[in-house]
Amino acid sequence: MKGLTILGSTGSIGTNTLRVVRGLPERFRVVALSAGSNLDLLAQQVREFAPEVAVVGGADCVEPLRHRIKAAGHAAPLRILAGAEGQTEAVTLPEVDFVVSASHGVTGLVATYEAVRAGKSVALANKETLVAAGELVIEAARSQGAKVLPIDSEHSAVHQCLRSGQQHEIRRLILTASGGPFLKTPKREFASITPEQALRHPTWRMGGRITIDSATLMNKGLEIIEAHWLFGLGSASIDVVIHPESIVHSMIEFCDGAVMAQLGVADMRIPIQYALTYPERLPLGETPVNGNTLRLDILAARRLHFEKPDTRRFPCLELGRKALEKGGAASCALNASDEVAVEAFLSGKLQFPDIPNVVEATLAGMPDVKLSSITDVLECDQEARRRAWDVAGTISTRSIV
Ligand code: MG
Repeated sequence: MKGLTILGSTGSIGTNTLRVVRGLPERFRVVALSAGSNLDLLAQQVREFAPEVAVVGGADCVEPLRHRIKAAGHAAPLRILAGAEGQTEAVTLPEVDFVVSASHGVTGLVATYEAVRAGKSVALANKETLVAAGELVIEAARSQGAKVLPIDSEHSAVHQCLRSGQQHEIRRLILTASGGPFLKTPKREFASITPEQALRHPTWRMGGRITIDSATLMNKGLEIIEAHWLFGLGSASIDVVIHPESIVHSMIEFCDGAVMAQLGVADMRIPIQYALTYPERLPLGETPVNGNTLRLDILAARRLHFEKPDTRRFPCLELGRKALEKGGAASCALNASDEVAVEAFLSGKLQFPDIPNVVEATLAGMPDVKLSSITDVLECDQEARRRAWDVAGTISTRSIV
């Protein structure tokens, strides 16, 4: 039986992970659950999965969670920890074999790095970890013999396709992108895009930032960087194609010209369970939920379309690629400045086409340094955020004038 810690247990990946765990009670034991401030859901999860440890975002959430758990009549012993230190303790407990890293932001990054350093295998959904600190995390995993398995659907697809060949036989990866809600929107209309429109993703139901990142294609830019660290390929060997149906989750072209693709319905339980049970595959989704099973109806799919991404309308894709090619602090700054730009857009301070402008201007002003420790990564992240807010402030004043 594998002991699990789930970072971000109340988010969309976290709740889907618990659905998978619920279906495999003989395989997994939940040792620790970590969430931010959704205490009602966390209390419910504690009652159902009876972990030894629960972690909340801040110290002020500890008593409210204890109160909710008590009110629900939960009697099992439980330690409640808080913040980044609590997360680190939760991932390094001796009973933990496997960590699902699905919390947002840089606190997730620190805990994930500590998990890998402690030799724990990690299923990774937190993009910051590889984008901001890929080199450090992958190096630590290698030296500790810890596995880093992707949960992101594209990287899971590549990982699955890799079962039919070896890493050195890959000619290129082809990551697919749905294209987001503005795939057909003319550039002249981009300035009038509202946050509500951008939050309507055609295929996946996800959090705010990743949904906006899918609309700007920054999400795919970040995924190029993730793919680089997971599969050891340079930017020139990682292509992106638009595939609006989101049925092919990604492909590998091997050196002999054979192309392997992974297809399936767009449901995160598939890549989550694959990562949790790897190298085994187990039955999943036998019971229909709302009339849907996890079976792909290939006849209903009928046609699959692929097209080249329009980098003139979606410059974020190339910003991601350039950051990877530049190396050092650029990817970390890319991630931080994009988060700021998205926040400024969602709060009405910036227009949709300003997002890449903020990222590009921030990257141009960042000093070119090597990040040799997690402290360096966190400092670079802070510096990029500060600069990005400055840039956003300038642009936003200009557009109001
Ligand atoms: Mg993805």
